[in-house]
Amino acid sequence: MSTAKAFAALNDHDPLVPFSFERRELRAGDVNIEILYCGVCHSDLHQARNEWGGSMYPMVPGHEIVGRVTAVGSAVTKFKAGDLAGVGVMIDSCRACNNCKREMEQYCEEGMTGTYNTLERDKVTMAQGGYSSAIVTEERFVFHISEKLDLAGVAPLLCAGITTYSPLRFAGVKKGTKVGVIGLGGLGHMGVKFAVSFGAEVTLISTSPSKQKDGERLGAHKFLLSTDKEQMKQFDSYFDVLLNTVSAPHNYDQYLSLLDFEGRMMIVGLPAKNPSVAPFALLKNRRSITGSMIGGTAETQEMLDYCAEHNIVADVEIIPIQKINEAYERMVKNDVRYRFVIDTKTL
Ligand code: NAP
Ligand code: ZN
Ligand code: ZN
Repeated sequence: MSTAKAFAALNDHDPLVPFSFERRELRAGDVNIEILYCGVCHSDLHQARNEWGGSMYPMVPGHEIVGRVTAVGSAVTKFKAGDLAGVGVMIDSCRACNNCKREMEQYCEEGMTGTYNTLERDKVTMAQGGYSSAIVTEERFVFHISEKLDLAGVAPLLCAGITTYSPLRFAGVKKGTKVGVIGLGGLGHMGVKFAVSFGAEVTLISTSPSKQKDGERLGAHKFLLSTDKEQMKQFDSYFDVLLNTVSAPHNYDQYLSLLDFEGRMMIVGLPAKNPSVAPFALLKNRRSITGSMIGGTAETQEMLDYCAEHNIVADVEIIPIQKINEAYERMVKNDVRYRFVIDTKTL
């Protein structure tokens, strides 16, 4: 066992505080990683504050983890000490069901094991996340990271990156596809980057007029202010694919009306309250709504390799861990450009 330094939520309302806990002894299939950076996802905040229900405390959030391998177990073949490595939103699954065999472990029929806020598969140990100095985990759920990219910018790829890459690939986004990305936060800004990189015609759909310039800088071709009814009318039945990354309660209908014939809205945002949908908004143009959860292990490595090849990283604001509570407050106010990343040296 080794002691990890961390920050944890002790309940659903107090600020996160310094915390320490034991990481397990290295097992044969394990990789021990010294964490260097960890991204701050809106899901961390939803869970720390128990906005989805069922939160377990003490909770060390964080599932956008990058660092250096310090030791590997005797059965590990993919990693050696000194390698860069990443860990995302899951650390285990049953590995035997159809979805695990497809390397789509996020849809494991027995339920994937999240990186934190859950019990590990032994049903005893609490999984603890990346706002910590080290993690010990199974190599299947550890990814290779290119030495070429800025490491702090890579961290958010482990959740915000794969969560937007996977649905855009699944929807077959390619040259000429009309894609609307709803919400320019951590996920949204990666969605814009990927859709642009796949050759799509990309529109940023935002509630924040001040983000128009950033959208353009990120490569978006058009900007649609969703609070402006006239502008929304101009884009009626326009898009093939919408990627909905909104974190706050909202209704789907106003966005569904933007979909062209057989267009689909891919849902990745997980607000605390369920959005409402009017069937009429779906019937027109035979529209559909599809959900998507992160991405599987094979696809996550594919995405990381794609980013290395195309020089894609997140736009980040690096913070010391002591600023995590302030970062949460700023996230709620949409004041993130576009991902906070913790420098874990500051622990
Ligand atoms: P974030 O950085 O806080 O960005 C969310 C964005 O939503 C904001 O920047 C804002 O963009 C927009 N927004 C906020 N309030 C809104 C409202 N009332 N109406 C319309 N738009 C609004 O959050 P994130 O880290 O990208 O996460 C986004 C959501 O995805 C969260 O709910 C998170 O839990 C979820 N998530 C899901 C998965 C998955 O596997 N499916 C993975 C990771 C995260 P504008 O200012 O541009 O409007
Ligand atoms: Zn996340
Ligand atoms: Zn499974």
